[in-house]
Formats: sequence, structure tokens, C-alpha cells
Amino acid sequence: MHLECYARTDPGPVREHNEDAFLVDQDIGVFVIADGMGGHAAGEVASRMAVETVRELLEDEGDPEETRLVRDIEPQDPAVVLRERLRYAMNQASVRIRRESEARPETRGMGTTVVVLVVEGEQAHFAHVGDSRAYLYRDGRLVRLTRDHTVVQQEIDAGRLTAELARLVPHKHILTQSVGFHGPVEPDTTTRVILPGDVFILCSDGLTDPLDDDQIRKVVEGTKFDVLADALVEAALQAGGEDNVTVVTVAASA
Ligand code: CA
Repeated sequence: MHLECYARTDPGPVREHNEDAFLVDQDIGVFVIADGMGGHAAGEVASRMAVETVRELLEDEGDPEETRLVRDIEPQDPAVVLRERLRYAMNQASVRIRRESEARPETRGMGTTVVVLVVEGEQAHFAHVGDSRAYLYRDGRLVRLTRDHTVVQQEIDAGRLTAELARLVPHKHILTQSVGFHGPVEPDTTTRVILPGDVFILCSDGLTDPLDDDQIRKVVEGTKFDVLADALVEAALQAGGEDNVTVVTVAASA
């Protein structure tokens, strides 16, 4: 599968720091967004550490501990092994961020979301922790591939809150897990078969706070792919977005 990819990040009109970090590595087919949190510049530290840890562990053949963890997976389905490696990488990132925040009191309490897409042949593997999202645009439809790890998502799932109201409540940003802050994490992982023409979008909540899924779909529909990441960021800012906003777009063709 041939891939074409773009990324755009913007600190937004209000924040001094950009606490989002991203990775676009077309050679190894790895795409990551991390949205850091914590006082002062700590969020920047957490998101950068998470992105670097994921890249490092996916580039390697696997460290001894990881090899031990995945060796016993039966059957040795490559997709299962890859998802297990993603789970391991996110937990390693969590350990490293916690260690760093213990060593540097000014970064105490820092954490980050992480969303990862790994493309291997005809397969797209996803893993995420937190409320950074992955979408698939196919045949004119935009499908959300990740379920936010937030308190409001739990309330939506339990039928106590509608998706529309959830966009308005003040506690919408409270995460049920994050890499670093929460220690061990349970990423959701999934694998999908890629079809030519598929467009994958990774984003931080700087995009999805000001824009709902239908607004995002309309931008995707009306924009040439090579400027789509820019157009989505611009649309978020024009809609009043004040947060850091980051978008990674990946298009597959035969
Ligand atoms: Ca954010």
C-alpha cells in the first residue's frame, strides 16, 4: 500500500506552549500524536517522551522484556504481536514519564494522551490512551476508530449523557487514563484492513473540541488531500479553538 502523509500543528491563539507532539515516519509506517498535560512546560516533556518512546520501541527488534511478553502469544498472529508491542510501548512510555516527574519536581503530575497508527502492508493497527482520536474517511463517511478515555464518554456509554450535551459539560476533559500520570495503562488496540482510497486522520482534542464529527467530515469532503491537515487546523481555529491543535493525515493508494 502506498502512503501519502501530512501533519500540521498549531499552538492556537492563547497558549504559550504547544504541548502536543507528533511523529510522521513514513519509512516505518508509524504515526503518533500525543497531547501532554501538566503545569508549566511539563506537558511538552510528557508528550515528547511518549512519542520518542513509541518510535524507539517500534524501530527496535524488541527489547528482552518485550520479547518475553510477546513470545507466548499463540497463535503468532503478526497483528496480535504488533498490538501487544504497542501496548508495551505505551506502558514503557508511562514508566519513563513517571520516573522523570519523580526526578524533576517541576514536572510532577505530568501525563499525556497517545494515539498511534502503524501501517504494515494492508493492515492498519491502532492503539490509544486518552482523548486523542483516530478517524477513517472512506466512501464519503467519517468513522471514529477510537473511544475517548474520558469520564463523559463513560457517562455517554451508560446512557446518562447525550453526545451533544457532552460537548458542553465542564468536566469533558477529565481523562480516565493517561500515559505517565496514571502509571500502568490499558490502551485500546485494533487492526483494520486498508482499502485503496482510505484516509486516516489522527488528531488532538484541539480539533475535536471546536468541531464535531460532521463538521470534520465536511472539511475532509471539500478539501484536496495534500492540504487537508492545514484545512482542518484552520477550521478548528476559525471555529474558536483555543487549545493546541494537531492533525496527521495518511492516505492509502494501491
Ligand atoms: Ca489538548
